[in-house]
Amino acid sequence: MEVEKVLDAKMDHVKSEKVISAVKIGSDIRYYLSGFMRKQGYVEVPPVIISPLTDPLNHPVFDPVIDYYGEKYSLTKSMIFHKQIMVQSFGSIFTFSPNIRMEEAERSSTGRHLSEFTQLDVEKRGASRDEIMSMVEEMITGLFDYIKHEDTELLSRLGRDLHIPGKPFERIKYLDAERQYGKNFESILSKKKTEPFWIIDIPLHQREFYDRESDIDSEILVDMDLVYPEGFGEAISGGEREYKLEKIKERIHKKGQTEDQFRWFIEFAKRGLEPSAGFGIGIERLTRYVCGFKRIEDTHPFPKVPGEFSL
Ligand code: ASP
Ligand code: MG
Repeated sequence: MEVEKVLDAKMDHVKSEKVISAVKIGSDIRYYLSGFMRKQGYVEVPPVIISPLTDPLNHPVFDPVIDYYGEKYSLTKSMIFHKQIMVQSFGSIFTFSPNIRMEEAERSSTGRHLSEFTQLDVEKRGASRDEIMSMVEEMITGLFDYIKHEDTELLSRLGRDLHIPGKPFERIKYLDAERQYGKNFESILSKKKTEPFWIIDIPLHQREFYDRESDIDSEILVDMDLVYPEGFGEAISGGEREYKLEKIKERIHKKGQTEDQFRWFIEFAKRGLEPSAGFGIGIERLTRYVCGFKRIEDTHPFPKVPGEFSL
């Protein structure tokens, strides 16, 4: 690695007008989202960075583990289990959660993957998927309206005409979308649509064990993704959660995972969990969409691009 060249490129990046504008817009996005969640009665909880318990994800990533006094700690991939535990006492929570997912290098080609990112992670005790989806629609339309007014000048310099979508957003069942457009339906639909849309009822094997099985069809989950239009791809994952001990164990086994991997969560489930639902939205992806950028790294002064050297 040529240190001088690398430093020049990093310096150009940090100083570029695109990055500076995106960081300002990103700051306004966090400001609005935080106010929105508070007004909905949600409590901001602190993030968790290392823990023996984290999201198993549904795709392979490199897994850095810290060995500390005989216990193994992972870097947080998502706070899904901490959210489920915290709603038991707080009811409704949100957090700006730093996530580490050391993605394989191929993922850099999507323009929407970073190995380090922040997600606004939200969970509500007793909520249904519908309730969460309606709140997200309010949040997204309210945010776009706010940014259009607050950052008119910046958006126009970036050449971005941010469209405020109508409500409710379209809902498409995963299997219907797959039947019509094939395996690649998400990216095809994302390019075709001009407003964000939901993919709902995701099949069991496509998701982690923690989203709740439908009462009508055990192969289908009561969960959802929100997808950005204009080819920007996935925005949000969320759903209702499994909360009964036996069901949690059954779902872990169906995934070919071990109870030992999730033993701390199982201990909480033994003591009783109430149902909850929630979602996570990646802040850098959201900023990228708002700015209309081709690549996510332009939203961050120090982007961790999969497979590349990053500062
Ligand atoms: N666990 C999801 C993720 O981080 C978000 C959620 O379901 O709340 O991808
Ligand atoms: Mg997802």
